[in-house]
Amino acid sequence: MIAANLTQLFMTFINGLHILDYNKVLDAYGHLSVRNPNNAATFFMSRNEAPALVTSPSDIVEYYVANASAVEPSPPSGFIERYIHSEIYKRFSGINAVVHSHSSAMIPYSISGVPLKPSIHLAGFLGEVVPVFDISQYYHDNDTQDLLVRTIPLGAALASKFSAGNSTESLPDHLVVLMQSHGFTTCSTDIETVVFQAIYSQTDAEVKSDALVIQHAFLDSNSNHHEGLVYLTQKQATDSWATDKGTIQRPWDLWVREVKVSPLYVNTLDP
Ligand SMILES: [Zn+2]
Repeated sequence: MIAANLTQLFMTFINGLHILDYNKVLDAYGHLSVRNPNNAATFFMSRNEAPALVTSPSDIVEYYVANASAVEPSPPSGFIERYIHSEIYKRFSGINAVVHSHSSAMIPYSISGVPLKPSIHLAGFLGEVVPVFDISQYYHDNDTQDLLVRTIPLGAALASKFSAGNSTESLPDHLVVLMQSHGFTTCSTDIETVVFQAIYSQTDAEVKSDALVIQHAFLDSNSNHHEGLVYLTQKQATDSWATDKGTIQRPWDLWVREVKVSPLYVNTLDP
């Protein structure tokens, strides 16, 4: 018997997975997790399957924050990269939801030196600039170097990129971190907000990439002078995020409806 508040949480969690798939933030890879509201020392992720195919609580596995091991003795197979999630929950007590994505729209900003700074008002949460995590800086000679965050030390190294210095604040300085040649991770206080951040991080990157393409095409034919891109000022980013935070229920309701009417997605908890 699942606690009543977990039934609601799992319904939202499964909707979140489907919404992230529908919006191409996740595909067969990537994951969403949520901290257990009844026990801050554990968190939930889906078992090792494509997010679109998660349908019920039997697809959800509970893990310890301490070492990302499963709470149940014989759990379904889990994701290798669950250390991303455990180490962010360990470092930031105010964080309750994490998305890790291999979005191809985001990766160019992890390998090009072009900074990912907010260019649209719905991405003010990106802050001044999005840090880039280079996992190769943390490898030892005998490590498997497949870029996956497959150990506690690698997860801790990624988590440290969310805050400058050795901040012990409950919330991070940055809500999004790019992962070089791999993807990105974003975290927040709840599922709806972290899904919003994941989707609009990707939208911001897409808009910026389109702007770079048309700017180059235009300037190549008209001038040797390069104008660069326009970014939000720090105040515009901060104020936009303050406004957007109050509107997240609107896109969430739309996204839930979109996945509900698509035959691909099944959520046995959604009435
Ligand atoms: Zn990954």
